[in-house]
Amino acid sequence: MRRVAAYAALITLTLTAAPAPAAAHAPAGTDLAARPSPTSAPPALSPLARQLGRQTLPAGDGWASAGPGTTGGSTASADQVHVVTTRAELITALGGDNATNAGNATPKIVYVKGTIDGFEGPDGTLLNCTDLADPGYSLEAYLAAYDPGVWGRVAPSGPIESARVRSVTNQTRHTQINVGANTTIIGLRGARLTGLTLMIDRVSNVIVRNITFDDARDCFPAWSPTDGETGNWNSQYDLVSVRRSENVWIEHNTFTDGDNPDSAQPVHFGRPYQVHDGALDITHTASLVTVAWNRFDGRDKVMLIGSSNTVGPDLGRLNVTLHHNLFDGSLQRLPRVRFGQVDIYNNAYRIAGAGFEYAIGVGVQSAVFAQNNHFTLGAGIAAADLLYDWSGTAITTRGNWVTPAGGLPRPVDLVAAYNAVHDPDLSPDAGWTPTLRHGPVLPAALVPLVVGPLAGADRLPL
Ligand code: CA
Ligand code: CA
Repeated sequence: MRRVAAYAALITLTLTAAPAPAAAHAPAGTDLAARPSPTSAPPALSPLARQLGRQTLPAGDGWASAGPGTTGGSTASADQVHVVTTRAELITALGGDNATNAGNATPKIVYVKGTIDGFEGPDGTLLNCTDLADPGYSLEAYLAAYDPGVWGRVAPSGPIESARVRSVTNQTRHTQINVGANTTIIGLRGARLTGLTLMIDRVSNVIVRNITFDDARDCFPAWSPTDGETGNWNSQYDLVSVRRSENVWIEHNTFTDGDNPDSAQPVHFGRPYQVHDGALDITHTASLVTVAWNRFDGRDKVMLIGSSNTVGPDLGRLNVTLHHNLFDGSLQRLPRVRFGQVDIYNNAYRIAGAGFEYAIGVGVQSAVFAQNNHFTLGAGIAAADLLYDWSGTAITTRGNWVTPAGGLPRPVDLVAAYNAVHDPDLSPDAGWTPTLRHGPVLPAALVPLVVGPLAGADRLPL
């Protein structure tokens, strides 16, 4: 445990000793005083909170350090440092109009205080799904119209499906919060963004830290009758989406379904009514993303890297680093990868029993390098179950460990374990070796002891 304490101290030291590169822009006590506020004087920020808000991604810390690196809103002027407590204030801080905020590249730091709910209406009261629905849509009408026993096994179409699509557009306008370039969004202690999607699309240089994201629920899931053997309900909204963007650092956040788990949803047409999509999906040619020290709690689909098998736009893109994340009790896509060179090192996996599908999905032309991760396995889960072949061909795995249910931690060759049970075999060489790493790579045996307590929101000294 002494080594663990040493690592914890090292991490804390790294965080607290990091330079505040733009401190000259914000002498203590002036930046927030200068910020006009429509409601009340903003709360004072601690010197450490100011420093962490100005922090940039360390050099060499994963793919997001490539190219120009990731500095987020660190150069924000005093009047672009905001503390927000409501959806309306969040949108104002991001530029003023959610429909155009993605185009606001002004450097800005947005501190989130307390809970902000994506369903907050203009006056702050919470809207519900009926408020966002098109007049032509109701779930009852949808279920009656597209019951496979009545409609058959073809995609829904016609007036009720059209009304559902219009309802989705309504909800997207409201619960999808669009983020522009050169932005840092950082939570104060206890910060929570619920019922919304943080959309990072067609922008560069964004930092998201120390926030608990939960329950980006879709009011209008779609029935996809040919998804899987018996059809599936599919939902639209991730907690955080990164699309067509570069240089994004997602660090020390918690992703969860909160008090609305999938297990609480009803069954329609014999399938679970799925109101959640991914926790953090990185798709549509996004690249240069570092995902570090986050906690992914008990979700179904966690992280999709690349959403289409089409060979073309994603080639050479989707390069992502995942390190020191805790995947706790989630079922699939930890992550699922297409095309990208994805470095997965020092992550801790707690694999649940019931419902678990796979951890790392090896998709079309993916090049995953998985090193020194630790998988704690629930009853009935074997090392051979940790990979899944989604039409990939190769994955490099080195220095990973498993702790089987009731067993002792031991090294595991993930590819060999997979190949012993499955065909066709995966090649053990994905063809590249990561160079963008920052700090020590922990022995896999230590990973759960370090990552377990230190990953997730509310671990940074904010
Ligand atoms: Ca998604
Ligand atoms: Ca085999």
